[in-house]
Amino acid sequence: MTRHLRVAVVGAGPAGVYASDILTKAALPDTFDSVSVDILDSDPTPFGLIRYGVAPDHPRIKEIIKALYRVMGNEDIRFFGNVDYGTDLKLDHLKRFYDAVIFATGARRDRQLDIPGIDLRGSFGGADFVSWYDGHPDAPRDWDFAPHAESVAVIGVGNVGLDVARMLAKTADELLVTDIPDNVHRCLKANATQDVHIFARRGPAQVKFTPMELRELSHSDTIDVIVHPEGFELDEGSMDAIRASKSQKLVVDVLQNYLAKEPTGADHRIHIHFCQNPVEVLGEDGQVVGLRTEITELDGTGNVRGTGEFVDWPVQAVYRTIGYYSDNLSGLPFDQVHGVVPNDGGRVIEIDGSPLPGTYVTGWIKRGPVGLIGHTKSDAAETIRLLMEDLDDLVPPEHPEPDAFVRHLDSQGIEYTTWAGWEKLNEHELQLGLSHAHERERVKVVPREDMVRVARS
Ligand code: NAP
Repeated sequence: MTRHLRVAVVGAGPAGVYASDILTKAALPDTFDSVSVDILDSDPTPFGLIRYGVAPDHPRIKEIIKALYRVMGNEDIRFFGNVDYGTDLKLDHLKRFYDAVIFATGARRDRQLDIPGIDLRGSFGGADFVSWYDGHPDAPRDWDFAPHAESVAVIGVGNVGLDVARMLAKTADELLVTDIPDNVHRCLKANATQDVHIFARRGPAQVKFTPMELRELSHSDTIDVIVHPEGFELDEGSMDAIRASKSQKLVVDVLQNYLAKEPTGADHRIHIHFCQNPVEVLGEDGQVVGLRTEITELDGTGNVRGTGEFVDWPVQAVYRTIGYYSDNLSGLPFDQVHGVVPNDGGRVIEIDGSPLPGTYVTGWIKRGPVGLIGHTKSDAAETIRLLMEDLDDLVPPEHPEPDAFVRHLDSQGIEYTTWAGWEKLNEHELQLGLSHAHERERVKVVPREDMVRVARS
């Protein structure tokens, strides 16, 4: 006798959607005749970090949504948004309806930076700022741009650091062509930032920027990019890094071009400083007034050592963009150090290495918050390959009928959204854009209750 395979994917970002796509196309063992997938997300909308992580002025990356759309149109895949794993549902519930559960919940929180003063007013997590400017329903509606905050520090030299620096340096009206919500545009008008200082604790060959993202930093007429010569050093370890990676070489080339360039006198400046390790956020009356860095020097291995010399930078706000951190998931083990669910190629394992049958991970919750969106595809392929190997050993669910899960959501009074609901909300946002005074492509709806109301109308 053959049976139908039912899989739940928790997380409708690229990792979850790619895993679902690969799964619905996979060759099943003889014991299964077909497969269907339910993708759940705590957001009322699909696409995870593409909607709520990619900067609004990066429409090119948002184009990935088109490919994800095609996957979600597959009749073997259903979407249930506004369903919060851990609150609305736990692992035991899902096990009743599905043979296997794949977690693709990503990483959305800021990694903590344990230095004095980090909790002062005016010290922000980059991930919080990203959620705010991308209009996430759980982010506050207003952002506290202090009127006097003309100089701002960004800690960390990854692509999120570039996004945050650009969003701070651009004018509100420049961003009106994007899909920023109205509340974000209104608050950005109060942003007085003139100088954004990005701090790298190591040298130019150790930055995590990617070349295209770094190059486009200068694409705004209102911004000068100024690379400071102090600390711009390439030691033997740096030369090894450049020889080993074409991308790293390109990044250093772009930085060298910026270094050689004369500022145009634009109204806003993004400064990049190397070999400055932030050690304290300085405050007065509870408010940020500066950032103290220790000057570092390269040690020949790609790392740095402190010199014992310090610099105080007068800035009125500090944004830390030192990486994301995943949420601990109910019913699963969690590796606090790396911020991931312990796993072996995607199979969830307990801290002692024993398997947690029927549970899998993919994407950032599996390998940590690194890599571009495309990397999640190969990651998902590995997880699905292992799931396929395990299929015959999985315990069949009590209620495999697809309607049983919907009945469960209804019985719990969960106001879930569906793919059809997302299509309604999508259409509604496009219409809001058309009827906007500035005829914009889209205006995002922000409050959760409004999103759910439109999607369920
Ligand atoms: P990231 O690439 O890991 O960069 C984190 C940065 O923070 C590094 O420069 C790191 O320096 C620094 N850092 C970490 N701990 C620090 C500390 N204690 N003090 C000072 N600096 C510290 O992380 P991310 O920027 O969050 O990006 C995450 C992923 O998303 C990346 O793969 C990125 O490419 C991707 N992404 C892509 C785009 C895009 O537009 N294509 C946009 C956003 C994000 P060290 O190297 O010295 O540790």
